[in-house]
Amino acid sequence: MKLWGGNLEKKDIFVQMDELDIRVGAIHTELGALKQKVKELLEDNKRLSEENDQLRQLFKREAELDRKVVSASAPAKRKIAEAGHESPAVSTDALTESGVAIGEGHDNLTRLYHEGFHICNVYYGHLRTEGDCLFCLSFLNK
Ligand SMILES: [Zn+2]
Repeated sequence: MKLWGGNLEKKDIFVQMDELDIRVGAIHTELGALKQKVKELLEDNKRLSEENDQLRQLFKREAELDRKVVSASAPAKRKIAEAGHESPAVSTDALTESGVAIGEGHDNLTRLYHEGFHICNVYYGHLRTEGDCLFCLSFLNK
């Protein structure tokens, strides 16, 4: 009776160990997935921090540039307005739209690209992590 009972107990322990083994395996798999997730989040965080730093610097430079453009263009606009005999307001606006604005926009994009950002419509605004981008370059050469 004792031996039989002992065998049954042994069998139970092996079953329990097998079950535990399976559970530990599942936990191990889950832990691995979590580790991978944390790694991805840390990489994302690093990338976003870099992107944020570059954008901060860019905005700072952009704001400084805007101040210079405003102070430099204000007297020029007045001169043009004085020179124009018919509707000076319209001619000033037209110049800003057709001449200055478009060239400036292209310059801004070129600068943005050289700051390390995508300007192509595929990855626009993202940090360029793998050197030159063919989409961006084809856009710049237009
Ligand atoms: Zn690109």
